[in-house]
Amino acid sequence: MSEMGKGRKEPSLPIERCETIRQYISAVLQEHTLSAKDMSTYLRISEKDVYEHLEHIRKTMNKGSYHLVVIPARCERCDFVFRKRGKLSRPGKCPICHSSLILPPLFVIRSIVRRETGEN
Ligand SMILES: [Zn+2]
Repeated sequence: MSEMGKGRKEPSLPIERCETIRQYISAVLQEHTLSAKDMSTYLRISEKDVYEHLEHIRKTMNKGSYHLVVIPARCERCDFVFRKRGKLSRPGKCPICHSSLILPPLFVIRSIVRRETGEN
């Protein structure tokens, strides 16, 4: 039976399932560069949930040999790039031309290859 009660703050999925989704997102992003919207369509969860998973993945990944690369959002009209944003989510408006045609940030996971050859 499916749970229909979608609380605003309560996570609707048990943690076990979240772990699976995170693992799934991690695996997919190692092969593809995707926006949160792509992922939300694919995983059938809300974009907001995708961002929460991505935040978690970003934090946990810092300790490992993989890391989440964020390709910043860009204004479709004037090409302004939202580089300074620390947030993962998509900005609403361009501060330069006030257009709301914003290309969303894209996400990809790259492995960090550690060289221990002593290059300097
Ligand atoms: Zn703009």
